[in-house]
Amino acid sequence: MKKLVLASNNTGKLREFQALLAPLGWEVVPQVELGVPEADEPHCTFVENALAKARHASEHTGLPALADDSGICVNALQGAPGVYSARFAGVPKSDERNNALLIEKLAGETDRRAHYVCVLAFVRNAEDPQPIIAEGEWHGAIIDTPRGSDGFGYDPYFYLPQMEQTAAELAPALKNTLSHRGAACRLLLARLQLES
Ligand code: IMP
Repeated sequence: MKKLVLASNNTGKLREFQALLAPLGWEVVPQVELGVPEADEPHCTFVENALAKARHASEHTGLPALADDSGICVNALQGAPGVYSARFAGVPKSDERNNALLIEKLAGETDRRAHYVCVLAFVRNAEDPQPIIAEGEWHGAIIDTPRGSDGFGYDPYFYLPQMEQTAAELAPALKNTLSHRGAACRLLLARLQLES
């Protein structure tokens, strides 16, 4: 098995990436197990933050590294909260306060379009001049009244007109096939397959 370090300590993401990458011969190890300190995310784009996290994890371990960065971009807010999605309403992070702030900012706004973004960055080493970047998007609209109890974050307010459901009303497996994260993962897998 080849080994890669995952620049995230989220156990849900770890399990997902382990399942996806095991068939390609990759063992996925979370950065915390290798003593990697949390990286800064100082940039205003998803791709720069994902790449910074991947390079940081690779630098500390000498291993290839994979990182992700994701969030929601709202048209009427010029793409905000974007990379600040997790801490939109400040720290400590709270989905409830983030959603309340989003709805408050959209009061009276008729353009409710929004999309989720997920960027995955894979580096073969810390100075890799040609990282693999895979980006997925998922388009919907923000509604004022939450619906559904699956998912997390902004999902109860993220409405999919074609499905007539919010992301929080979708079964998790269906969400994975439609979501920004699912799309980015499929692209990453296709690119990694070319490497082996
Ligand atoms: P991170 O990339 O894990 O830091 O997540 C960024 C933030 O974006 C999360 O905390 C959520 O607020 C939001 N987000 C990203 N993906 C999703 C999703 O699939 N559903 C709901 N919220 C999401």
